Amino acid sequence: MQPPQRLVVVSNRLPYVLAREEHGSWGLKPGSGGLVTALHPVLRDRGGIWIGWPGVTEAVPDVHDILRAAGRQVGYSFVPVLLTTEEVEKYYHGYSNEIIWPLFHDLQGRCDFNPEYWPVYVGVNRKFAQVLAAHSQAEDFVWVHDYHLMDVAHHAREDGCQAHLAFFLHIPFPPPDIFMKLPERYALLNSLLAYDLVGVQTLRDRRNFVQCVRTLIRNARVRVEHNLHVVQTDDHETRIGNFPIGIDARGYAKRATAPEVEQLVRAIRERYPNRQLVLGIDRLDYTKGIPQRLRAFANLLDRFPELHNRIQLYQIVVPSRMGIHEYDELKAEIERLVGEINGRYSELGWIPIHYFFRSLSTTELLAFYRAAHIALITPLKDGMNLVAKEFCACSLDKESVLILSQFAGASAQLGRAALMVNPYDVEQTADAIYQAFRMSPGEREYRMRRLRRNVSTQNIFWWVDSFMRAVTDKGLRDFPILEEYIPEHH
Ligand code: UDP
Repeated sequence: MQPPQRLVVVSNRLPYVLAREEHGSWGLKPGSGGLVTALHPVLRDRGGIWIGWPGVTEAVPDVHDILRAAGRQVGYSFVPVLLTTEEVEKYYHGYSNEIIWPLFHDLQGRCDFNPEYWPVYVGVNRKFAQVLAAHSQAEDFVWVHDYHLMDVAHHAREDGCQAHLAFFLHIPFPPPDIFMKLPERYALLNSLLAYDLVGVQTLRDRRNFVQCVRTLIRNARVRVEHNLHVVQTDDHETRIGNFPIGIDARGYAKRATAPEVEQLVRAIRERYPNRQLVLGIDRLDYTKGIPQRLRAFANLLDRFPELHNRIQLYQIVVPSRMGIHEYDELKAEIERLVGEINGRYSELGWIPIHYFFRSLSTTELLAFYRAAHIALITPLKDGMNLVAKEFCACSLDKESVLILSQFAGASAQLGRAALMVNPYDVEQTADAIYQAFRMSPGEREYRMRRLRRNVSTQNIFWWVDSFMRAVTDKGLRDFPILEEYIPEHH
């Protein structure tokens, strides 16, 4: 049974990407990252279409068949957008990740404003728009995701797409002073205004966006209506709202009680019975503030020697964007710092930092969330940070403390019950770890209860629902759960 209206998700990558199997043929493996974690359960339960790049530039003869078969298994369809090596280089690595990513994270010094990137970015966005126009109907709810695809809407309309076009930006939106540095600032802002709805993570991002519109778009009129800003240009209206992305909190909590997770939690804790475990989990990225965090941990060990042998940092770095110079350099810096700190403070039977450079299995990830006494989440700037929310959802014993950067989007919701830090301030961060280490069980429980209440109320289903309601009179309920799927969270 197909629902009358469909959700059509468009993102750079499909939730499953092509990978060569051992015997040389092509198969699919699940993608990682926040967006997939967030939206996969929504489409899995309701059906729909996901349009995106399948992750390889090689010609795979039976790509459509592979994706069709996988779609039948997971409960929704995959439609590929095929990209060449040059397109991936200039649209993905180039414009998206060497210009937009650093600029929107306030790190303009890391931008490479290479003029060859923009035309390719526009061309790839047009390709996505063509596929979208061919696969969507007027009643569909089309939801385009993230900074790779800010220019899809007006191409889709040129190609005859009639559906409501909504866009969500998962990364921060910068203030005008920074946005103005972008050579394509007018074109890009106009591209975003071709959508019917532009969603951002926080009120700060929304204010930044509206201020950029007011500064740069001369004929725009802005008004406030039902919790949203409405930008009126000559022939079009765009709604702007802030919708902090959530997680499937109940699903996380449930999976965190699986016997294999419990077993691993016991193994981790029994190994160091008298130590508190501090956890950092980040994709390898200069926005995550990993070197600053390591320096803060060293500062803690320096100023509070009574914590030696009683505290242990597990820093997990998930490989990402390898082969790009900036990322390779960051990895080298992290590894030099870990080596230096361990070399300086280690004692017989105690190595202060356990460092992993790999991705974790789900069991390992959940076990680390559960076993940790303190989560140390200190990005220099982050759209949301789902790790912070997942940690709270998995803290079933309510004995753990969240230390959170004030520059993570999640701080708008979790800031009052977490210990907030400025990640550039190593002494303040070290003090927060000390405070967390000494926090009474009663205070830990009080704070964690509030955090868990927030992540379970403002969850992924709430996020999708409030986003949809902002642009249509439909919510998630109008896209019913298909009977043949038994979702984990119901
Ligand atoms: N994650 C993962 N593999 C790992 C460790 C973490 O897929 O080995 C997931 C994690 O569960 C979270 C996402 O990666 O859902 C990271 O999202 P976040 O918003 O924290 O940061 P991003 O990587 O999107 O910048």
